[in-house]
Amino acid sequence: MNLIDIPSILEELKITAHNPAWSTGLNWATGDGETSKTIVSPVDGKTIATASFASAGDYDHVVKTAQQAFKTWRLVPAPKRGEIVRQIGEELRAKKKALGALVSYEMGKSLQEGYGEVQEMIDICDFAVGLSRQLYGLTMHSERSRHRMYEQYHPLGIVGIISAFNFPVAVWSWNAALAWVCGDVCIWKPSEKTPLTAIACQKIAAQVFEKNGIAEGVSCLIIGDRTIGELMSNDTRVPLVSATGSTRMGKAVGAAVGQRLGRSLLELGGNNSIIISEHADLNMALPGVVFGAVGTAGQRCTTTRRLIIHESVYEAFKTKLANAYTQLRFGNPLDETNHVGPLIDKDAVQQYLNAIEKAKSEGATIVVEGGVLAGNGFESGCYVKPAIFEAENHYEIVQHETFAPILYIMKYKNIEEAIELQNGVPQGLSSAIMTTHLREAEKFLSHGGSDCGIANVNIGTSGAEIGGAFGGEKETGGGRESGSDAWKVYMRRQTNTINYGDDLPLAQGIKFDL
Ligand code: NAD
Repeated sequence: MNLIDIPSILEELKITAHNPAWSTGLNWATGDGETSKTIVSPVDGKTIATASFASAGDYDHVVKTAQQAFKTWRLVPAPKRGEIVRQIGEELRAKKKALGALVSYEMGKSLQEGYGEVQEMIDICDFAVGLSRQLYGLTMHSERSRHRMYEQYHPLGIVGIISAFNFPVAVWSWNAALAWVCGDVCIWKPSEKTPLTAIACQKIAAQVFEKNGIAEGVSCLIIGDRTIGELMSNDTRVPLVSATGSTRMGKAVGAAVGQRLGRSLLELGGNNSIIISEHADLNMALPGVVFGAVGTAGQRCTTTRRLIIHESVYEAFKTKLANAYTQLRFGNPLDETNHVGPLIDKDAVQQYLNAIEKAKSEGATIVVEGGVLAGNGFESGCYVKPAIFEAENHYEIVQHETFAPILYIMKYKNIEEAIELQNGVPQGLSSAIMTTHLREAEKFLSHGGSDCGIANVNIGTSGAEIGGAFGGEKETGGGRESGSDAWKVYMRRQTNTINYGDDLPLAQGIKFDL
């Protein structure tokens, strides 16, 4: 039995039993692809609706429409583009409850996190509105007399957005809201596991574009699996591909886009750790660790996967942590009293089980035993118990991101060793230290400290605000999106020099007399 009225939510968001494969805003079509996918909720195992998959021909049609739309959209003044993004933010505000609930039901994250994800979309729209008046370039002094030199940023063209299931809508908005104010048009290929929330978002955005008399093609959606992502990655008509997902996917997209000398923005897997120093406030550290490790059932790119604990507080913190895990409530994420909802599907459950076996075979010892939950309320077969292992950082399984609630804990003796362990994995997304010791905190944040894109003090690894640039190093892909100056990747930079004199001096004093 559902705690929210799913049929009325689907009706409010205009999700029907059978949904189209693509949209260019005004136009929606089932497409000529032959496949469609039944979307089953991991919450209760029930079918929500079906989504059609687009074909290569559909993809081509969408790209051509987007190309056409770019010709007019790029000429709309940036603050006017910002005004349209502001209206999209307003529509998202009005639909926050329904959209947040669908995010929760389709993906399996808690209702609060579903609302939180929509709030992030609203926040990035607000950010983008301000940004639309701040797409600044620099002016510089020319070395030549009576010359002026400056740089400006121009729209890039089509931005392809490939997104992952775990943030089914927020990632789109981080990219699209910025890309639109920058004058770009977007084609979004959401995860094939969560197309319904994507269809709902496209309907919201398309309605706003239509109301403002904007040509179709500024906001496009195309449903399909990796084959659509591959078409996009290889397509020279798409100057920027922003791809969020696994490192395996990012390596394929990065190689394909790089091969044609396109631009890619990669937001890939993490293997995030928290250092618990002997100077930590352990009572403060505990909720940060537990939320980081089990929140969203371990399916955040910023989920805490490793805990590096000073030997002097190791046993005490381990006991606190194990006790806290006994208090976790598992079950329907729409019930706000539950802490841990389901994994996305049964494949993810299998990967969780495989990781546990691998950890044991490499010598890890159980602190909190995992397992698949069965029985009343767990009929979808996607609910698992969060597990904790004592492990060594060099274990193959510890070096690898398993997208499930498995936490590896290990000891350290001094801060240098802790930082080395923290950095000693292929990924470089999020990191944190819990300490009240100023020198230790500053060392962790210094150039000799964490090598991640995100480094926090007295905050866990999980989650981030939209105001900062978001992304990570090494196998996390190196891309940055959302706040700060992440907008620059969506534009092309041009340096302009104007000679307002009556002769033509060459740079570097070169003489070329005729
Ligand atoms: P996934 O890699 O399986 O799929 C992500 C998207 O890529 C999907 O839309 C999929 O269809 C597409 N895709 C897959 N292979 C492709 C290929 N070869 N070419 C083009 N497109 C392809 O990832 P997932 O299971 O949906 O998401 C979980 C992963 O995403 C985790 O690794 C997580 O850490 C990562 N993630 C990273 C961030 C970040 O900002 N760094 C945010 C969210 C999720």
